Amino acid sequence: MNLSESHFDVIIVGGRPSGATLATRLAQGGLRVLLLDRATFPSLPAVSSPIIYACTMALLDEIGAPEAEYAHNTPKIRKLVSETRDYYRAIAVIPEDRGRDYAYAIDRARFDHALWRHAANAHGVTAIEGFGVTDLLWEGERVVGIEGRRHNSRATERFYADLVVGADGRWSLVARKVEAPLYNVDESVATSLYYAYWRNVQPYDLNEPLMVAHGTLDGLGYLIMDSADDTAAVVCEGHAEVIEGFSQGAGAPEALYEALLRHAPRIWARLQGAERITTVRGLKHTPNYYRQPYGAGWALVGDAVHHKDPLGGQGVYDAVFSAKALAEQYLAYKRGAMDYESALRGYQARLEEETLPVYRNTLAARANLTPNFPFQRLLGRYLMESPDVMEALARVPARMGDMTQIMTTRNIVLTLARGVASDARRALTGELSPSAVPPLPIERAQGVQETSSYQQRLGCLGWLFALPAIMMFGGLAALRRAR
Ligand SMILES: Cc1cc2nc3c(=O)[nH]c(=O)nc-3n(C[C@H](O)[C@H](O)[C@H](O)COP(=O)(O)OP(=O)(O)OC[C@H]3O[C@@H](n4cnc5c(N)ncnc54)[C@H](O)[C@@H]3O)c2cc1C
Repeated sequence: MNLSESHFDVIIVGGRPSGATLATRLAQGGLRVLLLDRATFPSLPAVSSPIIYACTMALLDEIGAPEAEYAHNTPKIRKLVSETRDYYRAIAVIPEDRGRDYAYAIDRARFDHALWRHAANAHGVTAIEGFGVTDLLWEGERVVGIEGRRHNSRATERFYADLVVGADGRWSLVARKVEAPLYNVDESVATSLYYAYWRNVQPYDLNEPLMVAHGTLDGLGYLIMDSADDTAAVVCEGHAEVIEGFSQGAGAPEALYEALLRHAPRIWARLQGAERITTVRGLKHTPNYYRQPYGAGWALVGDAVHHKDPLGGQGVYDAVFSAKALAEQYLAYKRGAMDYESALRGYQARLEEETLPVYRNTLAARANLTPNFPFQRLLGRYLMESPDVMEALARVPARMGDMTQIMTTRNIVLTLARGVASDARRALTGELSPSAVPPLPIERAQGVQETSSYQQRLGCLGWLFALPAIMMFGGLAALRRAR
């Protein structure tokens, strides 16, 4: 059959999380789908670190994507360690969600390949990898198809469909060709991120796979995540201008990345004797936006329609959620349950309802990431020493909790009050803080003592800083009630 002559229900440009899962859902709904990607699989996506939570896996369960394949040989991570220098740390347990009490730091090449294969095997999907789409085909104001070329071929091929979907990432060709307007753009906080995969990273002090977040209180954050095949993903992210400061004299990304890693002694210590096994990948400025998600004959999903700072590790979830929402709305239109405009307007509404709160929280959290005066440090420690707060915070990235419900004036006042009381008790009894940072195994071998210098220095003095804050928050709460 000459494919170019055939007409599809839907053409999808881009075959990673959003495109592949959309193709599967539409085919499962009985449509004929052409799935195209200029990449060949397995291969890494543009830039992405690897966290996925149970909520994402639940969406993949709906289409039968096999966890045994996309997470093959990947350790289940049940705990998140959050350290702030050697000042304090907390351990959060990943909450159970629909039978899964773990997250993965997946190998994105393996993950994307498994989703692509799953789509390509679905009845009704024609999948072509190594095919770059170069332009859209129009009839008047309406998109009716695409044209492009296979890798190593000069021949232009054209395909036609009722709907062309851009699942082609943040630099989406489809979005550019239809001139989809941007909205909810936020340029207030620019973030940069660099990462690589390593082997033989020194383990943390607990004998299980972990995600270790490490903040340096100067605009930088690090993540070491145990990943597939005994590797670890080592990520550094932070304010673009702070990271820019490290790039002076360090031209190549490798040199910049190393300078950033050396800046965090506890991260650098874990990399002694380890081997970096991939190139350093990264992004200088992560964009934050929504794009108009549909028009006549076209729609956008995944990063093409919405992108945000990767701080919360929500990109893949949002991508597969947008695919679900578009598939359900479009299939409803195809079944005659609603007209095209209502169906696609419904898609936009569902997309925003699901993603806007997380978007706003992510940007707010990002803006507050440089706590560098004593009271904020103190509050950070008190928050981490509070089991309730840590349990609630661990629910946020799993999309089981809302940051704004946790950081209420009442909770902050309570946390401060409890923290001051605990500090006072410890100052009297000499008891060690539960948030003291233990030495790493490598440091223990060298006889390094438990690091609780911050608590020792600030311990009983903490309340001096906290008292005015309690009065301030208490006063604010009283004022709010009075209104
Ligand atoms: C630095 C960084 C870290 C991140 N970390 C995380 C994380 O830890 N957890 C998480 O959930 N999310 C994370 N994300 C977000 C996540 O990577 C994305 O949200 C997700 O990959 C979006 O999937 P997608 O299918 O929409 O697009 P993509 O994964 O970008 O895939 C787009 C596909 O389209 C294809 N394509 C593009 N143009 C064309 C064309 N003209 N013709 C044919 N094919 C084309 C590309 O080859 C590509 O395969 C991170 C993002 C960044 C930038």
